[in-house]
This record gives sequence, structure tokens and C-alpha cells, in this order.
Amino acid sequence: MSTEKMEFQTEVRDLLNLMIHSLYSNKEIFLRELVSNAADALDKRRFLSVSNSALLPDSTTLQIDLSVHSESKIISIEDNGIGMNREDLISNLGTIARSGTKHFLKNLKDNEKSNLDLIGQFGVGFYSVFMVARKVEVLTLKAGESQAYLWSSDGEGDFEITEAPKQEAGTKITVYLKDEEEALEYANEWQIKNIVQKYSEFISYPIYFHPESTKNDKGEIEIKEAVRLNEKPALWRQNEKEITEDQYKEFYNIVSHDGGEPAAWNHSHAEGTMEFWSLIYIPSKAPYNIWNNENAHGLKLYVKKVFIMDDFKDLLPPWLRFVRGVIDSEDLPLNVSREILQSNKIVTQIRKHVIKKTLETLQNMAKNEVEKYEAWWLELGAILKEGFYMNWEHLDELKDLLRFKSTKTKDNEIISLETYISRMPESQKEIYYLTGDLKDSIASNPLLESFKNKSFEVLLLTDPIDEFMMSSLTEYKDKKFHDISRGDVDFEKTEEEKKAEKASKTEFKSLLKALQKALDKEIKEVRVSSRLQESPSCLVNSEDAMSSRMERIMEAMGQSKTEKTKRILEINPQHPILKMLKEKMDAKEDLGEWPKALYGQALLSEGSPLPNPIEYVNAINSLLTSNLK
Ligand code: ADP
Repeated sequence: MSTEKMEFQTEVRDLLNLMIHSLYSNKEIFLRELVSNAADALDKRRFLSVSNSALLPDSTTLQIDLSVHSESKIISIEDNGIGMNREDLISNLGTIARSGTKHFLKNLKDNEKSNLDLIGQFGVGFYSVFMVARKVEVLTLKAGESQAYLWSSDGEGDFEITEAPKQEAGTKITVYLKDEEEALEYANEWQIKNIVQKYSEFISYPIYFHPESTKNDKGEIEIKEAVRLNEKPALWRQNEKEITEDQYKEFYNIVSHDGGEPAAWNHSHAEGTMEFWSLIYIPSKAPYNIWNNENAHGLKLYVKKVFIMDDFKDLLPPWLRFVRGVIDSEDLPLNVSREILQSNKIVTQIRKHVIKKTLETLQNMAKNEVEKYEAWWLELGAILKEGFYMNWEHLDELKDLLRFKSTKTKDNEIISLETYISRMPESQKEIYYLTGDLKDSIASNPLLESFKNKSFEVLLLTDPIDEFMMSSLTEYKDKKFHDISRGDVDFEKTEEEKKAEKASKTEFKSLLKALQKALDKEIKEVRVSSRLQESPSCLVNSEDAMSSRMERIMEAMGQSKTEKTKRILEINPQHPILKMLKEKMDAKEDLGEWPKALYGQALLSEGSPLPNPIEYVNAINSLLTSNLK
């Protein structure tokens, strides 16, 4: 076969153009990409040899070999992995198959073109070599085949493929460095060794560096021995006691793609009916796009140290999707598919273990590193809350992990349910809570007035998810949760209070009736309140009604009901406005705009939007001007 010249696919050309002219300063990652491609190729050969042993003779040790020729400015990366045939070369190194990458390229804005932090993540790995190369050659023989090929390109629009001699399966990539300072720094043994150690420390195949031979004083050529760059086995298979904190943190950066520090981790090795290693991390910052439940999440799965897949969701429930790490099983077959794994008993067991260990790790942090836990809670706690309606096995553990703001917490302070219970006054029987959109606006909700007066603490829930959580969170240590915007609150009133209440009910009877009539469209019932101290009125829901915030959330999710639940308006008989209105009633005067004003105020003070703001403003203005007269 003579040399064939072929054009790169348009997208590849765009990509190469980006690479070649990239201002991206972290050019060294090209080496990480090439080494991890080599490791992938070794994985593939090993994987295929499970069902076809001829692909990997016993005498072959899978490995990666690197060398640098400083004078001719050449780097070479060689593996004895799966290799590529002619078709593979054309489709792997001539096109971009993944639609994700195409999409990424299309949407890359001009101002982002110099900041290609996303290299690799979008599968543009190999092409990154053109950031430093003026020419690249790929000499490769596919395992099980006899004809080898040489692919070469200067990255400028086309590539060439020709038949070439190569005996052993695998791929050798030769990088001819550009004649630019930024590229030439890689024509250096020390640099290459450093970069490989930095990125590829945990690759489970040996990576050897072959130093250049030198001439000694007598002019004789001295050949130096190859050095192994990754001495350590996979971190997760090592004994916990032999691993330093820094190594754990470094490994976190590798598995999570997060440059920060983990909040905590758990490393375990299970032996018995089945054997596996697990190393799981709790990130301290919310990973990108974590709020989207559909987003890729999960752990890396290895089988006998062989990488099987990323983001294996079946190992983690969605409410623990922030967890990052590695699971390595000794018992699963190598040739597994996602479908097989989904109903696999071993996977179910490992999943149980992962959930247990994650919850334990969080509990330990909550107990022993309070500040750290609270910071973590504010960052990611809302995801755990999803656990309340997604599982029923771990509710008790989850309850202990919850943290809340309340009417008694200051600034950034948050408390556990245990703390709440421990400071309940003797006369308080239930756990009180109120939901709303913003801490500031619910903290001044009139519903809280008599709770403050009695010194009963009320939990203030402001996450939208809280509405869903509370439908499954009904009690803690035999104490029931009580939404104070619902039903009546039993305050164990004194005989005197009861008498006064009864009296005002009779006294205000005709006013209640008149208000009810005026607000009939909006309100189910008007009644005398026992919870108001300073405000004239407030709104509550009947015991079985959906909370009005939940109604709004459902509406925002496009699930609105046609008819809104009618609420109950409570009035404060002690308030001067209500006293004045009662006098009006007694004098048989018209209530005018007052019912509208009371209803509007009650909505505003709980932080709810007014259904008809203009009507409310007109009502208030007419009351104000009548006062002027
Ligand atoms: P990715 O590694 O994300 O798939 P790359 O652009 O780095 O994307 O590589 C494209 C493809 O080329 C790989 O998926 C693989 O099939 C093939 N490839 C790259 N390097 C090697 C290699 N050393 N041996 C075998 N195949 C390789």
C-alpha cells in the first residue's frame, strides 16, 4: 500500500486549530492525555484477552515506556496495549465521534477559546498533543492482527497513513516538538518524569522512563537503566495505615476532578463472602451541576484493579450523589455491562456498604468536627434532604444529620434536632416549624408572635426541598413535628385565657361574620386567634390542606391545580384596628375597605405575593384618604 493522504473531519480541524493556537498555559497535560490513552489501550487488551487468551501471551507484561531525545526534540510514548488497525486510525484519530464533544466545540465562545480547561473531559485528549508538537507519528499494530500502520500529521488539515513494520502489538507515539520555548521545555528528562508522576501516579501498569545514553570520559557510550515512575500500587488497595493524609487528598483531586480538598473520606476493605475495596470522599464544595439530579454521578468502578467504568450510578442513591471515589471488586467478572450490573447481588451489597460508610463518615464529622460539618451542611446538606422521600431505610441516621435555622439561632448558626429537643421548655410537647422563602421574611411572620412570647423555638425552613422533606419527616424521638401555619396550636392555655378567648368569640361574632362575607371568595373561615400578639391578622391553613408554599412550588413545576385551597383568616381581638372595627359593627357602620386591607396585610406579612396588588393599594389609599377628611 502506498501512502494515503486523508482530510480530518471538519470538527477535528476546528479543534486542531484551537489546539495549535491555544494560549492555554497548562500545556503539560498533553502528556497526561497520552499516558492515559496508553493505559486505556492496556486495559482494553487485558480485557479482551479474558475471552481470547491468544491476545495476550503469558510472557507479555503490559507496560508503558517513555523516552526523550533532547537534541532532536523528540518525545516518545509507547504501550503494548490493544493497538489500532487502519480503520481504527481513521475513525479514532481523524474524526470526533462523540456528540458531546461536537456540541462543546460548537458552543465554545470566542472568549473561551484560549481557556481550554475542558480538554480531556470532552474527549479531545489526543489532539491536545498539537499544542506542543509540529508533527506527530503513531506507529501501531492491533493485537491479533499482522499488518502495522504509521499515521502521521502536522495537525494542519490532513493526515497520512501507510503500512509500516512493527512486530509487537501496541502503539508508539512520537512527538516532534515545536521550535518554541513553550514546547521545547518538554525536551527534558526531568520535566517528563515530573509530569508523569504528577498525573499518572496511580495508573496500575508500570510506567518506565528510559534515560538517554551518555558518553563517559573515555568516549564510551553508557546505557542507563530504565526507571519506573509509578512505584505505588493503586492507593485504594494499600493499607490505610501506610497512606498519608496528603496522599488521600491528592487522590481525591484525581478521582473527583476537583482541585479543592475533601471534607472527609472513608477507606475500607471488605473480606468474607465477597472482597472489595472502597475509598469514598465527601467533597467540601458542591460539585459542578450537582443540583441536577440527572447529572452524571457515582463512583469509579474497578474490577481486580482494571478500570471498568466511571460514574457508576448503581453504587449510590441520588441523595448521596455528591460522593466521589473508587470501588474495586475482586468478585465481579471483568466483562460486565451496565445492564448486568444493575441487577447484580454483589453490586447491591457494595451499595449497602457505601451508603452505610457515607452516613457514618458524615456522623463522625458532625460529632467530632462541628464547624466543618456545619460548613458542609450549608454547602450540600439540601441533597441529603432528598433522602427523606427517596428511601425509608436510613431515616433515623438522616434525622440526626439534619441542621436547621430557627427563631433562636443567630446569623450563621444552625442546630440539630437533638439540640432543639434538649432546650424545649417542659410545657412544649411538639417540634414547631414554619416554612417560607427567605429566612428574614419568615422570621417576622406574625404566626411566630405567641411562640416568641412563650419562648417556644420554631424551626425556620427555607429550602424549597423542605416542603417535600416534611411530608416524610413526621417525628423525632417520639416528638411530632407541627407546622405552625396549620390547624390550631395547643398552648395549654390557663383557665383565664380560655375564658377570655370564649368571651371574645361571642363579642366578635358579628364582626367575624361580616369579614367572612366580604372575603368569601378568598377565605374559608374567619376566626379569633390565640397566636397573635402584635399583628392584627394572619393566615393559616386547615390541618389537612397543602401548604400555600407547596402550592406555589407545584405551580412553578407546572402542576398547578385549578382551584386554590381556601385558607383561614385569624384576627387579633386585642388589636386597636379590630377593636375599632367591632365598634363600627356595633354602630351598624359599613366596614368599607377594611376586610381587603386585613387580608392583604396578612398575605404580605407572611411573605406571600398579593393576588391583586392594585386592589390592595386602592383599598389602603381609600382608607388613608378617608382619614384625612
Ligand atoms: P479518548 O481517549 O477520550 O477516547 P482521544 O482523542 O484521546 O479520546 O483518543 C481517541 C481514540 O483513539 C481513543 O478512544 C482510542 O480508541 C484511540 N487511541 C488513542 N491513543 C491510543 C493508544 N495509545 N492505543 C490505542 N488506541 C488509542
